[in-house]
Amino acid sequence: MARIIIMGPPGCGKGTQAVHIAKHFGIPTISTGDLFRAHVRDKTELGMEAGGYMDRGEFVPDHVTTDMLKQRLQVPDTANGFLLDGYPRTVIQVGALDELLAARGQPLEAVLALDVPDDELVARMLLRAREQGRSDDTEDVIQRRLELYRDETQAVLTAYTQRGIVLTIDGSGERERITSAAISAVEGALAA
Ligand code: ADP
Repeated sequence: MARIIIMGPPGCGKGTQAVHIAKHFGIPTISTGDLFRAHVRDKTELGMEAGGYMDRGEFVPDHVTTDMLKQRLQVPDTANGFLLDGYPRTVIQVGALDELLAARGQPLEAVLALDVPDDELVARMLLRAREQGRSDDTEDVIQRRLELYRDETQAVLTAYTQRGIVLTIDGSGERERITSAAISAVEGALAA
């Protein structure tokens, strides 16, 4: 059983790490950003609502995001755990996740926090813009996403730090080294 959150500023590489870490533990990755992008691509009602916020680098409203996550958690592949990427991003979402997990009788086991310097983040996102053409990877929107991270999402990290479940990982350098460091840290936490 592994119920894990991966956190870190936009561009820190958490999406890539999430895939490799989740594979190791045999659990699904649930990325709210990917779920939103799929809705936008499929032009669902939710996608129409979320797309505008995403293009401006703003958060999609908490209740919309939480409803989408709640539905995703109902899929049976989450029975042995999951790795959340991109949720919770606000203190309100921390409370919402607590409620969802309490209803399942399943506490969180660990929060992985990837630590990457700011200048490296912007460089990585601009590179990703060229490679993947994401509509929210322009310089202005990137700055807004970093600002929101500092203003809103740091408080999420603080809340989990107070619970003593945060595992901080150096997110600079080789992809493989970061993945192994994250896996060892989670295994340590699960064994404790
Ligand atoms: P990144 O981590 O690079 O910022 P994501 O793919 O995680 O990108 O998210 C892209 C966008 O999707 C966010 O800028 C936001 O608009 C929306 N989003 C994703 N997760 C959430 C969330 N938990 N709450 C509100 N909005 C979200």
